[in-house]
Amino acid sequence: MSKLIVQKYGGTSVGSPERIKEVAKRVIRYHDRGDSVVVVVSAMSGQTNKLVELINEINPGGSAREKDVVLSTGEQVTIGLLSLALEAQGCPARSYTGAQARVMTDNAYCKARISNIDGSQIKQDLADGKVVVVAGFQGVDEHGNITTLGRGGSDTTAVALAVALEADECQIFTDVDGVYTTDPRMVPEAKHIPKLALEEMLEMASQGSKVLQIRAVEFAHKYDMPIRVLSSFDEGDDGKSTLVTREEDIMEEVLVRGVAFNKDEAQLTITGVPDQPGVAYKILGPISDANIEVDMIVQNIGSDGTTDFTFTVHRNDYEQAKKILCDTARELGAKDCTGDDKIAKVSIIGGGMRSHAGVASQMFEALAKENINIRMISTSEIKVSVVVDEKYLELAVRTLHEVFQLDQ
Ligand code: ADP
Ligand code: ASP
Ligand code: MG
Repeated sequence: MSKLIVQKYGGTSVGSPERIKEVAKRVIRYHDRGDSVVVVVSAMSGQTNKLVELINEINPGGSAREKDVVLSTGEQVTIGLLSLALEAQGCPARSYTGAQARVMTDNAYCKARISNIDGSQIKQDLADGKVVVVAGFQGVDEHGNITTLGRGGSDTTAVALAVALEADECQIFTDVDGVYTTDPRMVPEAKHIPKLALEEMLEMASQGSKVLQIRAVEFAHKYDMPIRVLSSFDEGDDGKSTLVTREEDIMEEVLVRGVAFNKDEAQLTITGVPDQPGVAYKILGPISDANIEVDMIVQNIGSDGTTDFTFTVHRNDYEQAKKILCDTARELGAKDCTGDDKIAKVSIIGGGMRSHAGVASQMFEALAKENINIRMISTSEIKVSVVVDEKYLELAVRTLHEVFQLDQ
């Protein structure tokens, strides 16, 4: 039976002319089987970073609208090149930028959210036997402004298109053959996970596993769209993969499924704040007004009528957040405002934690044995996260991977 498949190829998968020709070959194999194929591509590897560097050389604090005009160009190159490669191999193809594909977003430049996709034109092309190639990572707001979806956003384009087109499968091709118990680049002993729950992947992505962008997993979770992660470097179509799907479809529940880490955060602290109602709001209100997302928050028990307050933000937002916080500190008559951007967050994730106590203390014990100081802790139903000094990151990840026997 023929299927409608959305395939996404990330930066390394389309990193050179040879790679693009290889991708075209794979797409054609599916097309020749009678499947309707929509391909989402990222910019060639390294290109988006180059665009970021160019922006930073010219005007790092500049308007986000113009940044998105620049950032979105990388994907326009690859949709054209892949369509040309398909054409050269005798396969009719048609490329679409985000705007042309009617990927509608809000106007939060550089981190826009997809609100709707009008797939009618794409469906027409598929009915005409064409392969449709769509630029990932970009969309358009209601006024026609180009937007981008945040780093790694092509994953989200792919899942959103799969939902809009009611695809049978959403395949994310990358440079690893699936999701592992932790980043295999840091821990070579990491084990391949054949199947995991969307809920678990959601936590892994939100705690820093960049194999899938968090918003892509959120979309898949919300609309019940299974995602398959596979390698574009495998020769055939029968290599290993990971199916990320509904929890009900997973047979075994695992206590700890994986270890995720995030080096992109920074910590901010305000001390000696008058301990009164409304303090958290006074501290975090201006931060959120500046559109800065806050991750972990800890407020100490007050003593002597004052309290301390610590939170983390993305490292890119560190300088701006620190300036805002220090202004607030002055207004509130707080004692001090400090920060540290050399921190890292390490998390253990697993659906089995819901029904098992003691996982957190096992984690803390393991870190203590290695003399790793924990600065902050946060937990949810299926994860425990700690903030540690960045220099201990690798040791912490390896230790936890071993202690929870993820290498076995
Ligand atoms: P793409 O350019 O294809 O989107 P990414 O670099 O965004 O690829 O994502 C793939 C990378 O994610 C892998 O090369 C790997 O280093 C990293 N990664 C992080 N955590 C994991 C994990 N748990 N399992 C597999 N890969 C992971
Ligand atoms: N090219 C964009 C990035 O590097 C989007 C993506 O690859 O998913 O972040
Ligand atoms: Mg990616």
